Amino acid sequence: MGDGDDFKMPVTYPHWGSVTYVLESLLRELKMKDIMPPIKPTKHTAELGARYGPEFICTPFKLTLGTFIEMLDKGADQLAMGGCNSFCRFGYYWPVQKLILEDLGYDFKFFHVDYESPRMLLKNLKEASGGLNTLQTIRALQVTWLKNRLTDLTDEMLFKYRALEIEKGVTDRLAQKMFRKIVETKGVCNIRRLHRELPKIFEKEINIKKEKNVLKVAVCGEIYAVIEPALNLDVHRKLNELGVICESTATLTRFSDVPRVLNPFYQMHWQKARELGRPYVANRIGGETMENLGDIIQYKQEGWDGLVHIYPFTCMPEIITRAIAPQLSKENDMPFLSLVVDEHTGEAGFQTRIEAFIDLLRRRKQEKLSKTKNRNEKFTESEMGVYV
Ligand code: SF4
Repeated sequence: MGDGDDFKMPVTYPHWGSVTYVLESLLRELKMKDIMPPIKPTKHTAELGARYGPEFICTPFKLTLGTFIEMLDKGADQLAMGGCNSFCRFGYYWPVQKLILEDLGYDFKFFHVDYESPRMLLKNLKEASGGLNTLQTIRALQVTWLKNRLTDLTDEMLFKYRALEIEKGVTDRLAQKMFRKIVETKGVCNIRRLHRELPKIFEKEINIKKEKNVLKVAVCGEIYAVIEPALNLDVHRKLNELGVICESTATLTRFSDVPRVLNPFYQMHWQKARELGRPYVANRIGGETMENLGDIIQYKQEGWDGLVHIYPFTCMPEIITRAIAPQLSKENDMPFLSLVVDEHTGEAGFQTRIEAFIDLLRRRKQEKLSKTKNRNEKFTESEMGVYV
């Protein structure tokens, strides 16, 4: 790949929450001419994936396969997909999807990005690019990791401000505007400037309720499920609508942010979580098992109120997280709700479980606050000599 007519062939890629904008930016930087951003997965997308995918394959496979089928039907000729020697089924995703799509009679090219190591990532991107040299490819990668930091920051703002906004919908609209702006912004200096300005833009444009003791819940789990709202049933929105600030523990930056990953003096959040999780799962087994377990300890230390764990049906690594997490949650006094999702997950049951969990967290927090208040009152009175 990489020469002549390939760059006039419409290229598409999987839909993946806010990462979709990062992938679009990457393809633009690689000088791909005809980019077809994927449409948001729907029930129909999941049905297509389930119809043509292996029965017991994990749900992200089905959702991405369904997206590819829909996009090929809309005229895409090239499919871009990440993949590496994974610890779990992810390593089989693109080769198996390729076989299925060929069997279905589609004529297309697969543009496979192996991110096993930064060197491999660079090599693959260079080969796939519109004739970029090594330096230009590094530049494209740099723009991508900087933009990924920006999309993560926008998500962070969205998941915080939406929980507290006075006028409903204003944060969503601003976040969508920002995502588009991130894709359109050119040049490293402008991207860095936008990074500095972004929190101020949210602060200026959104009026929020001044509430004390707002609940804070981290959303952890399998990376695709955590980031893609079509699979996680828009769990961040559900939490925000209950007045809860949330944050995603898994983001693409762990793969794209080469300088931070390689910097021995900088510890990313997931790196610390992995260290904390290592005593419970000594080796990497795929998914985000080590990090999710470590996050139970890490988020407790950071004063968060609980974790919602989302994992796709038949995801083997995250079934292990689910098995170990209750013990760790008990030891650390950190509430942990595990929810499995697939194309059959019912909205109502999912919502009820989230609401029940948040009710429990709210009661816990109130009890803790009243105990602290009582203790403080007692302490003041004992200082005055009332209590001995
Ligand atoms: S982590 Fe789980 S859902 Fe993701 S590819 Fe691996 S087995 Fe499938």
